[in-house]
Parts: sequence; structure tokens; C-alpha cells
Amino acid sequence: MGLELSVVIGKLEPMSHGRTDLRKKKPKQLAVINDNCTGCAGSPVCVAYCPVEACMFWVPDPDHEPFGRIEVDKATCIGCAKCTSKGPDGTFLDGCPWDAIDMVAVEEWEGGRGIELPSVPDRPVSEWNSVPSVYV
Ligand code: SF4
Ligand code: SF4
Repeated sequence: MGLELSVVIGKLEPMSHGRTDLRKKKPKQLAVINDNCTGCAGSPVCVAYCPVEACMFWVPDPDHEPFGRIEVDKATCIGCAKCTSKGPDGTFLDGCPWDAIDMVAVEEWEGGRGIELPSVPDRPVSEWNSVPSVYV
């Protein structure tokens, strides 16, 4: 765990910008980007809907530059689902129009990786420009 935590991903723009105080407890669900994500040709619509600072961020694809995708810092995500277009009971929201974001139960995500996410962000805001890879 300690070794894995030392692997850090730098967050690039486009990224979400917003509040830093919204996660007050562990959310019930998390936004998980799936393989449908194309990065929206560098203009991802999803990040504009995320209310959390540096929660959604750009990850380049080194084999297919300038393409890339969006990822989510699971230690800051509040599970609000504003980034997805899939609302409750089949309703349609304003977020990602490409069905590239799944809302996943936090226990399911943690269990699949054998880690436990912090209830509140475990890094000072000054360090939110990067994220341990285990939280992505
Ligand atoms: S998650 Fe959706 S909106 Fe965001 S970059 Fe990927 S395809 Fe585009
Ligand atoms: S669920 Fe909310 S906090 Fe999490 S990535 Fe989506 S918009 Fe941001």
C-alpha cells in the first residue's frame, strides 16, 4: 500500500474547478470513467459540471497524442453525479453525453482494488494538483 501510494499522477487541464470543502464524509457512490471516454477531442464537457476543485482532470494518451481521457480523483469525488447524463429512474441529465461515466457504489470500487478511500481528502488542497494512482 505504501509503495502504491508513492505512484502519483499529475493532473492536467482541462480539469474541474470548484469548491474544496464539499467532501465531508465518504460518498455512497463514485464517478468512474469507462472505456467510452474519448476525451471529447480535448474539450470535455463533463468537467464543467463537476463542482469540486481538481476532481476531474485530463490524462494524456502517450500512444495517441494529442488524445487522452478524463479521470476522477476518488479521494475528492462527492458522488453527486452531475458529470453524468444518467439520472435516477432513467432521467437524462446534462453531463457526459457519451455514456462514458458510471456511478459505482463506493464499497464495490474499494473492494475491487482492495483499498479503503479516505472519508475526507487526505491531502491539503495545495497538493490536489496530483493524486496517488490508487485513488484513480
Ligand atoms: S467522460 Fe464523457 S464528456 Fe467527459 S471527456 Fe469523456 S466522453 Fe467527454
Ligand atoms: S460525481 Fe460529482 S464530484 Fe464526482 S466527478 Fe462527478 S461531478 Fe465531480
